[in-house]
Amino acid sequence: MSQVRTRIAPSPTGDPHVGTAYIALFNMCFARQMGGKFILRIEDTDQVRSTRESEQDILDSLRWLHLDWDEGPDKGGDFGPYRQSERSEIYQAHVNKLVAGGHAFPCFCTEERLTELRRQQQEQKIQPGYDGHCLQLDKEDVKRRLDTNQPHVIRMLVPADGKCIVNDMLRGDIEIDWHQIDMQVLMKSDGLPTYHLANVVDDHLMQITHVIRGEEWITSAPKHLKLYEYFGWEPPVLIHMPLLRNADKSKLSKRKNPTSIGYYQKMGYLSEAVVNYLGMMGWSMPDGEELFSVEDMIANFDINRVSLGGPVFDTEKLDWLNGRYLREKLSDEEFMQRFGEWAFDPATMHRIIPLIKQRVELFSDVAGIAGFFISGLPKISLTDFEHKKVSVEDSVKILQYIAWAIESLPQWHRDCIETLLMGMAEKMELKIRDFLFPVFIAIAGTSVSTSVIDSIAVLGKDMTRARLRHAIEVLGGLSKKGAKKLESDYRSLGI
Ligand code: GLU
Repeated sequence: MSQVRTRIAPSPTGDPHVGTAYIALFNMCFARQMGGKFILRIEDTDQVRSTRESEQDILDSLRWLHLDWDEGPDKGGDFGPYRQSERSEIYQAHVNKLVAGGHAFPCFCTEERLTELRRQQQEQKIQPGYDGHCLQLDKEDVKRRLDTNQPHVIRMLVPADGKCIVNDMLRGDIEIDWHQIDMQVLMKSDGLPTYHLANVVDDHLMQITHVIRGEEWITSAPKHLKLYEYFGWEPPVLIHMPLLRNADKSKLSKRKNPTSIGYYQKMGYLSEAVVNYLGMMGWSMPDGEELFSVEDMIANFDINRVSLGGPVFDTEKLDWLNGRYLREKLSDEEFMQRFGEWAFDPATMHRIIPLIKQRVELFSDVAGIAGFFISGLPKISLTDFEHKKVSVEDSVKILQYIAWAIESLPQWHRDCIETLLMGMAEKMELKIRDFLFPVFIAIAGTSVSTSVIDSIAVLGKDMTRARLRHAIEVLGGLSKKGAKKLESDYRSLGI
């Protein structure tokens, strides 16, 4: 058999997710154990949502966890470029082949027609999907439209009926009816590919032998297998890992659990404990030992022993495991060193010192004013939020609005944060001092601290989000109904 090559293919559209690290770990272990290669490819075909900042964060987070790849955008390799936005010509050439072979076709339908089609399908309670309208156009008409550059997408043909058998190495044969599968858009009207086309073309050209990814991709597999068939290529082995779940068994989401790797780093978890815990999410050591290193995992790895039950990502269990690492694995000397590296990271210190220097007279003043930077979730209670002009309801509102608004902040920069908060206070008709009061408590645990806007900038989005959520809980939390009402008020403010 040819050399095993696995990959992860994250989309750089947000904070680096623990699910990405989990999938990376299993891909890495499998490749290492088989003497193969593990590749990192950036799937940034969504030009609107992808950012270089997010790509950098993903790379940094995976490096922090020592999930090392052999080829990638930062490292190069024989199969590059490893960023999909740099591979447009490759996709264009491949989609042309599909069209020429009669496996894909241009579709000129307007957004209005597609919306109307969806509406009708919903009304008739039939499977939503493209109705093949543009397949009926005659050749001359298609040529004329293409010659005059009429906007269009390229869609793939899929069988109208019958079943697709997706063979998953762990799950066996999965049957999916073709009538459930849409005539997927492969190339968008801007000439960029969709995930499905780019993913298949790249997995083939990068000679990926095993695709190990989350189970949410099972329903995409029929499209992918059909594309391999159209191209005349051998598909890779497919392995769909169970999704990480919240305690209530729903898909792990940042509304219920911190999901950003950066959060765990900033909270002071050891990277080896996080990786160990992610390993436990689908795997156990043959001897049942819960504390294991990546090396142990690689040495004992057997993909067939991955368990398919929905693993619950339980932060309490992770805390327990991390505690064991601190106690059992680190000498006092190592503890001192690791703690020092974490707490006094020079890049962060360079940002914090200018904020505190003006406000202290003695070194012994520093911990009081800036200790919150490294204190995880502040120890706060309802009484800390008491204020003459800001009620508990107002505080919840302010904190929740900020939590929503930071998700769409284009850049994590103090000026953007300042503009956002100032604008918000104005729209809510609150004095900035009053508006910022609960924010101070949520972020710093006290209203006497360094500037809260600068502090938010330093803490980062993941830690800010976690502290806002924590404060909302302390204030009594938000019911589903309450959140809905608040969300509609928030939308009407147009923040
Ligand atoms: N870009 C996809 C993601 O963000 C990759 C899925 C796959 O591994 O095929 O998860």
